[in-house]
Amino acid sequence: MRIKESNVVVKKPRKNMLRIALLFPSTYEASLSNLFVHMTYYFLNKYPDIYVERFTLSNPQRSLETKTLLKNFDIILASLPFELMYQDFIKILILNGIEPLREVRGLGKPLIIAGGPAVTANPLPILDIVDAVIIGEGERSLKELSKLAPYKDRPKEMLENLMSLSEVLSGWYPKDEVIKYYVEDLDREFYPIIQIQSDVKPVYGKGFLMEVSRGCPHLCPFCLETHVFYPYRFRSYDNVKKIIYEGLKENSLNRVVFYSLSFFDYKYSVKLLEDLITNGISFNVPSLRLDTLSNEKIELIKAGGQKTVTVAPETLSDRLGCLIRKRFSYELVKEVVKCILSKGLNVKLYFIIGLPGEGLNDVMLIPKLINEVIKELGIKGKRIHVTVNPFIPKANTPMQYYPMERTESLRNKMKLLTNLLPRDVVDVDTYDPRWATIQTSISLGDRELGKLLVLWAKYGGGLSGWRRAVKELSYDVSYVFKHRDPYTELPWSFIDLGLTKYLSSSYLAISKCID
Ligand code: SF4
Repeated sequence: MRIKESNVVVKKPRKNMLRIALLFPSTYEASLSNLFVHMTYYFLNKYPDIYVERFTLSNPQRSLETKTLLKNFDIILASLPFELMYQDFIKILILNGIEPLREVRGLGKPLIIAGGPAVTANPLPILDIVDAVIIGEGERSLKELSKLAPYKDRPKEMLENLMSLSEVLSGWYPKDEVIKYYVEDLDREFYPIIQIQSDVKPVYGKGFLMEVSRGCPHLCPFCLETHVFYPYRFRSYDNVKKIIYEGLKENSLNRVVFYSLSFFDYKYSVKLLEDLITNGISFNVPSLRLDTLSNEKIELIKAGGQKTVTVAPETLSDRLGCLIRKRFSYELVKEVVKCILSKGLNVKLYFIIGLPGEGLNDVMLIPKLINEVIKELGIKGKRIHVTVNPFIPKANTPMQYYPMERTESLRNKMKLLTNLLPRDVVDVDTYDPRWATIQTSISLGDRELGKLLVLWAKYGGGLSGWRRAVKELSYDVSYVFKHRDPYTELPWSFIDLGLTKYLSSSYLAISKCID
């Protein structure tokens, strides 16, 4: 891949330098939109005795910076925000001649460390593949990594140093309890003012990535991010402004890409957007919580140059809204969607199907609402985008106790729903229930799953590779479709995200919504 980048860190590799491969097993475009990649890259590269170089699916064997082979690094630091990235991660190890199973590989170089929301919620499936997992936010472990250059040829000592942190877990040194790390005061932490700029368009478009807050105050019981990044924290207005204006200048940009959950819960969001508009700076806000929107905020989004507003009602059923703590009335959703469209903006809507207790009448509310909006506004051309995802129970969320709906039933619901949407006006994306089932298998998987993941990768990944690996290992994935008991410990219960007791009590509370 031929790419032209600026702000790349160029160093002359030296013998005593700790060389870290920052591996993001997704597309290069996605890596550009990932704040953790920029943060790790610039934080660790501040140190003269450390050189961090990048790898993605587009350059799985040689680093972007010096074209060094992956296997020649001292440490591989893998960012695994989603479960399905595990297969590409393992495929990259195999492609590079690195044995994927930890015990077969032995404790040596490169030391393989993984982090990210998916592994934080449940590290078990990956525990016998990597040497260590970072549970929670990476800031403290990055500081620890920055001290490891003197041990670069002693992987055991590097690992032992990391193990002193309560958030680091390793199959080499079992621990009874692992406590998630989170940053208490975001204003006091390093922020990547300089970010990689490329002639390739990042997934969210070119712009300065700005994280105004971390976590989300809503704690919707199905949402992985809110639990992994609990508690909700935010940066001060002055600090955010300082970072933005410095970042825009240093990177020669005139657009901000906000990077936070439920952006309008940030108490200075409106003031901040008004300031950017006054100064002629455009911006992009991510998916929004519907009840945080208003006519004025939609106007601001439009004035900031955004063409599409993304909202995630997830369901239009009152019962199911109560269950997932997103209880927006049918009329409110309709009003917000109409308000967005009537301003000439496009709308992107996220829905979940297969929620516990869901009936066909709940699902049919989705095409009903869309068709009413189209009729009432007389819309022509594709301005409504609907994404339908199956419900995926995630470990370390209150909905981890619920089963996933069967593939066939999900497929039927999706078919019925999409057939009722006028395709000349509505773009519909559905997430294949078979992939969703694999994702759930990983999300709720135990340590045994590691072997299956490796075999799956050896068979080239994909749906057929998964089926083949499951069959060959006689692996029982039926747990995906079973209820879990809220009164018993789950395999990943030793991971302390600070919400241990809350998970089962919240489950018991929300389950009353569908009794
Ligand atoms: S509002 Fe959105 S980000 Fe926040 S907890 Fe709910 S689903 Fe997650």
